[in-house]
Amino acid sequence: MTVHVEPHVVEPDELTCRELVELVTDYLEEMLPSAVLARFEAHLLECDDCPMYIDQLRTTIRLVGRLDEADVSPNARVALLREGRAWRRSRA
Ligand SMILES: [Zn+2]
Repeated sequence: MTVHVEPHVVEPDELTCRELVELVTDYLEEMLPSAVLARFEAHLLECDDCPMYIDQLRTTIRLVGRLDEADVSPNARVALLREGRAWRRSRA
């Protein structure tokens, strides 16, 4: 599926990072309705942080086999992003 995203155009129904976090477990379980999935993936194309967040959740699932509520809380997301930024800096 191709998701076309106009740069610098804010769609009225564009997902925010916060909404994405609320949908992420359904996304990882492939439970999102296709209309929502399209918006979700459009956000991933535009956002620097969310794709990294999802990568880390996938890694967690691979290691642990499941996600805890704590792993997808907004606070956990902030902590993950902070770790990711430090990681990227350490490789720069
Ligand atoms: Zn985002």
